[in-house]
Amino acid sequence: MKRLQTGDQSLVKQINKSIVFHTVKNKGPISRAQISTETGLNKATVSTMVSELIKESFIQEIGAGKSSGGRKPVLLYFHQNAGYAIGIDLGVNYILGVLTDLSGNVIYEMTEKLKETTFKYVTNKIFTMIESLIQNAPESPYGIVGIGIGVPGQVDNEQRIQLAPNLKWYNVDLKQVIEERYSIPVRIENEANAGAHAEHLYGAGKNIANQIYISIGMGIGTGIIVHNQLYKGTLGFSGEMGHFTIEANGRKCSCGNRGCWELYASESALLLAAEQNQILNANQEADLDILLEEARNSNPQVLQLLNTLGENIGVGIVNIINTFNPEAIIIGNRINRFKNWLTNPIERIIDERLANYFKESTEIRFSALNYRSTALGATSIAIEHFLSEIGLAGHSAQF
Ligand SMILES: [Zn+2]
Repeated sequence: MKRLQTGDQSLVKQINKSIVFHTVKNKGPISRAQISTETGLNKATVSTMVSELIKESFIQEIGAGKSSGGRKPVLLYFHQNAGYAIGIDLGVNYILGVLTDLSGNVIYEMTEKLKETTFKYVTNKIFTMIESLIQNAPESPYGIVGIGIGVPGQVDNEQRIQLAPNLKWYNVDLKQVIEERYSIPVRIENEANAGAHAEHLYGAGKNIANQIYISIGMGIGTGIIVHNQLYKGTLGFSGEMGHFTIEANGRKCSCGNRGCWELYASESALLLAAEQNQILNANQEADLDILLEEARNSNPQVLQLLNTLGENIGVGIVNIINTFNPEAIIIGNRINRFKNWLTNPIERIIDERLANYFKESTEIRFSALNYRSTALGATSIAIEHFLSEIGLAGHSAQF
């Protein structure tokens, strides 16, 4: 048997430390003896790793646990306030920012409307938001460990935004601009991928191995989770299902294609239809809040538009289920506010058009994290990146 070299030994030590850390993080409060039983690591190793992790402020001890007799064991738990992370959901017409602890609990959040989409204007808004969020972070050993930003566009493997059509951004390096200003690590992710990650970790997709998250905002993006991992494709651009064609000779889309799904099933489709049908007064700006209010008042024209929107969403979902055979489809982002009126038409189309074996095995759910999916996904990506950089990556870490 090959003897371990010194380098290998430090690697083994790092792996053991990461295993102990994640056992405490996922299963705490837990005793040293229980960690040893759970992980198969001997008690001396567990004890050494625990001491290091306590010294580094990642775990803490609390009072006594249950004991079958004798001295009660001290329990260990994850020190989730050892640092904080910032998550930003950059929409086309708004920015949502959250500050969370290292377990993803929201400490503070804020929203800003965007009146322009130029890179300079938007980055200035992001700076202001980051500064407010930093000011709201409590004192902690590690401070702000990272900033995650979900963007409505294609992000390559080097974290550059290659294309964000609704913002009219081409090949921009938002990460570098923010890192230079704050010296805090920044991770950029497609907004639907970030949303999918959060729903899988904390939300409607928890414990579901294969799921497709559909983010319906001004456009439509999807995040694909396969075998509990985010599937990003060769260049990082997977999930552009908002641009598959549902009308062969339909309207021209900004992507160059025709009849794209998002032209018929997104927030912009709803707002456009409301304008064309003159549902809103001439002096009223087409606005989701107004449409929501009208839907609550059972305005028949608005209910008709929502019915059509739901059917169009359903048509795309049938394509997705036929392609991926997922366990769950999770519908998220701002369209969720209309879920009461969308559920029936979506389910009706699926019932009419999908083969029986798919119907029985696929659940359609709405996001559990609501409007926060992308922002929370962005913070968790920033946190996982931080942990990975200091050698405490989890099994599924890839950020
Ligand atoms: Zn398109």
